[in-house]
Amino acid sequence: MSREPIITDHGRTAPEENRPAAPLPMPVRDQLEERLRPQKLSEVIGQRTVADRLSIALQAARLRNEPLPHILFDGPPGLGKTTFATVLHNELGVELAITSGAALDKKGDLLPYLTNAVEGSILFIDEIHRMPRTVEEFIYPVMEDFRVDIVIGEGMAARTINLPVKRFTIIGATTRSGMLSAPLRDRFHMHEHLEFYDVDDLARIVLINAGKLKTTIDDDAAWELARRSRGTPRLANARLRWVRDYALARANGDVTLSIARDALDMQEIDPEGLDKQDRRYLDTLIRVFQGGPTGVEAMAATMHVAVDTLEEEVEPFLLRREMIIRTPRGRKVIEAGYRHMGVAPPVLESPLDLPIFDPSRRRF
Ligand code: ADP
Repeated sequence: MSREPIITDHGRTAPEENRPAAPLPMPVRDQLEERLRPQKLSEVIGQRTVADRLSIALQAARLRNEPLPHILFDGPPGLGKTTFATVLHNELGVELAITSGAALDKKGDLLPYLTNAVEGSILFIDEIHRMPRTVEEFIYPVMEDFRVDIVIGEGMAARTINLPVKRFTIIGATTRSGMLSAPLRDRFHMHEHLEFYDVDDLARIVLINAGKLKTTIDDDAAWELARRSRGTPRLANARLRWVRDYALARANGDVTLSIARDALDMQEIDPEGLDKQDRRYLDTLIRVFQGGPTGVEAMAATMHVAVDTLEEEVEPFLLRREMIIRTPRGRKVIEAGYRHMGVAPPVLESPLDLPIFDPSRRRF
């Protein structure tokens, strides 16, 4: 695995004596995406209640001259978990190190960072639910008491040494909060759930980011893009980048409503923003499994897609749009899902299937 240097404050490096000595395993990042990321809390669009609570935590940390509390963000991919971590580090002007739970194979991977952590700095652990249990247990005393326990020797001769570490903040992000162990979840002082964005907020993000990309876009076109972005800023950015290329190749570079529509149609993104994979999911559930209920493993095997992809990327939006539901016996398509696919919902065979309330039956 390639190891990149620790991310510091956008090229501003920490003083020599405080600088973390060793690199952390880091996730790969898209540079254009980084350019579009808000840098200050005031630039963050939507998620108002979350932003307000973070603003209080920031103010308190500044006034007390203490590190931020440990914060856990959860929600589907692309809704702003990394963005909030970046914004908090910019607002406080502290060091930020970024790693991913999947990249931390063993506790030794974190040790260099922990022993050299700068007071008040932030360690962002993306996909924290993928962190191995040994690493998870290793960071409990760090999160609670800013202490690392190192075992030296083996068997009868084994000894535990406690090393104090500087007080810093861990920000965890997860798309699967249900997979986090209770002890890990409890060690975060703030839990923030990110919801899908409404179309107004996404349209604002599209307009701002079109400006950053020096692209002219109509309000109508921005609205169309927002409407077809599944409530997700990362998808709005991706759709904007595609539409911008399309406008350049097929017209004079300006994004109008008809250009936006043609470009999105060409990518097979439908008027609700669902892409080919979303529609294949609904189609498989309706056609192969008669609408369900069926388990996600069976869906994944039939579609040749990883279970994680379905659970993390496809299902949350379909659930949110009430096209499917999750029942104890598996996933089931409901009316909006059938309607979206142009299929008539099945007719219930027996009237007993319906929870009918017939007032006449109450008469004596
Ligand atoms: P996550 O970490 O949840 O997968 P990110 O924070 O990487 O998602 O967000 C993806 C992109 O979406 C960011 O680069 C940024 O451009 C945009 N974005 C996310 N949240 C917001 C927001 N609240 N306001 C404006 N842009 C946002």
